[in-house]
Amino acid sequence: MLLGEGVFVWDVEGNKYFDFLSAYSAVNQGHCHPTIIGALNSQAEKLTLTSRAFYNDILGRYEKFVTDFFKFDRVLPMNTGAEAVETAIKLARKWGYEKKGIPANKAKIIVCQNNFHGRTITIISASNDPVATENFGPFTPGIVSIRYNDLNALREALDDAHVAAFLVEPIQGEAGVYTPDPDYLKEAHALCKAKNVLFIADEVQTGIARTGRLLASCGNCQCADKLCSGTPDVKPDILILGKALSGGVFPVSAVLANNEIMEVIRPGNHGSTFGGNPLACAVAIAALEVVRDEGLAENAEILGEIFRNEMEKLEREFDLITLVRGKGLLNAIVINDTEDSSTAWDICIALKDNGLLAKPTHGNIIRFAPPLVMMEEQLHECIAIIRKTINEFQA
Ligand SMILES: *Cc1c(COP(=O)(O)O)cnc(C)c1O
Repeated sequence: MLLGEGVFVWDVEGNKYFDFLSAYSAVNQGHCHPTIIGALNSQAEKLTLTSRAFYNDILGRYEKFVTDFFKFDRVLPMNTGAEAVETAIKLARKWGYEKKGIPANKAKIIVCQNNFHGRTITIISASNDPVATENFGPFTPGIVSIRYNDLNALREALDDAHVAAFLVEPIQGEAGVYTPDPDYLKEAHALCKAKNVLFIADEVQTGIARTGRLLASCGNCQCADKLCSGTPDVKPDILILGKALSGGVFPVSAVLANNEIMEVIRPGNHGSTFGGNPLACAVAIAALEVVRDEGLAENAEILGEIFRNEMEKLEREFDLITLVRGKGLLNAIVINDTEDSSTAWDICIALKDNGLLAKPTHGNIIRFAPPLVMMEEQLHECIAIIRKTINEFQA
């Protein structure tokens, strides 16, 4: 690619494409959003990095802004999503020893099969994907893996006083946009509460308006406030954000929690040279203002409904599509072929030739996740491209 603007990218030959990957939902606000780039440029001329050894004028402003925005007491600023997940695990373990009373080095974290939480050693220790794990061992102990969307499995795993936390994606994005049953998150949250186990939501991909709500951990909450960060019965104890927190400009991630959890981290326990740097703070404030001021959660909800409706029509018309699923503008279609077939890949190549970029997730699943600044008539253009491509393929 050579250029990006809003929902479009251009390649080196000048061909224009709708971007239906959005850098894995990092560019929810659209490519090179002028407000975010403006914030980047003006901060870059003033101050870029002091480390946290010295105060600067913007970190405190950002901390106030982001904690008000998501309604948590505190934030721990990091850079990449993987770092934020690592940070959340460290925080949960320390809480487990110091607050819950788990014996030294016995803490366990429950994770779900087919998760994607990043690529560091501890995180891949929680992965069951051979591509991510093969020949990278030995792995970090203290991780228990259960089936996703299975409350009985969770109930069983929670029957262990050494469990500190349950780490879950509200929708499994990388696994193929697996949306859990309507009451799964709420019930899982309640089970954790009953066992004094922290509920950690990895919203690196699902968060920040992608699913038609500020956060997807709200589950099927239908409240009118699209920027609601969750009622007490679904609000995560620890919230992990990344990707769109910077509007795709550069790595900005965050771990949010309330005082009774975050206070176990004391000065010197954890840190990051670049975490919460002035550029990141300025960019993240702008990125969240854009989400709020442009009503991106509402837009994602409305356009998502239209998109799934149209994809369901295709599903009825063409044998090639067997399933449509998703929430807001995080959607996927399942292709009628074996998981190791190249059909989904070939369809993506054909989509590219017709002006739309998408990527298979696992084998026969194609994820559709355009920037949330998409306009309705643009979406109809995209739907027409997908219809035409599937039609050509079926023929
Ligand atoms: C992308 C992603 C991560 C890792 O983020 P990086 O910035 O690539 O380290 C973690 N969790 C989820 C759910 C993700 O989608």
